[in-house]
Amino acid sequence: MFCKECQYNLHALPESRCPECGRAFRKNDPTTFDTHVPGPVAKAKRKYGRHINAAIIISLSVLVLQTAIRIEVGNVRAGGFLPRKDLSTMPLGANPKWRWIPFDTPARWLEWYGPKDAKGQPVNRALTAAEQQRMQTDIRLFRHRNHLRWLVSTWGVLQYPCVFVLLPASLRFYVTGKTRRGKTLGTGGTIVAVACAILMLYRGYFSSLGS
Ligand SMILES: [Zn+2]
Repeated sequence: MFCKECQYNLHALPESRCPECGRAFRKNDPTTFDTHVPGPVAKAKRKYGRHINAAIIISLSVLVLQTAIRIEVGNVRAGGFLPRKDLSTMPLGANPKWRWIPFDTPARWLEWYGPKDAKGQPVNRALTAAEQQRMQTDIRLFRHRNHLRWLVSTWGVLQYPCVFVLLPASLRFYVTGKTRRGKTLGTGGTIVAVACAILMLYRGYFSSLGS
């Protein structure tokens, strides 16, 4: 038997404390000592494992939190597009999918919404002040919606695995954390993961995405 802390050989010791580093152990409890000297991987894991876990929790927390905030800000700018539209109020046959809006440049906007003659053909004339205003408002809104759609389909996709890795990782860190800092980190990670998971599921990022 060897000390878990310093690998000192504890065999045939009269006391139940490592003479080298002072770590306590119980002869009849194999979880309190090592049965053989750990290999280099196990040693490194013991030494750096918690640091690596902490780094993972911190980076995942930052990633999911900033994604959630960016999506919320984007949603406000896009005129509150999320959560998805209430499908029950949509006309029959309407497609509930949220597609890319191509009319986010003046040229494309004019093609679709510009002045038309009685036959529906585009008329080449200058826009009135009200039309100019409407064009600018539309373009701004369409750009925000396209940006939100991009955000949701890129970082928003990543949000799903990240949140569900962060949650067990930080919970485990909280439970096994021995130091105050470890507990705080575990608690923080858990709160971030739960908050982001609720937002994510409530927003239903993808249910409304179309191609
Ligand atoms: Zn020891």
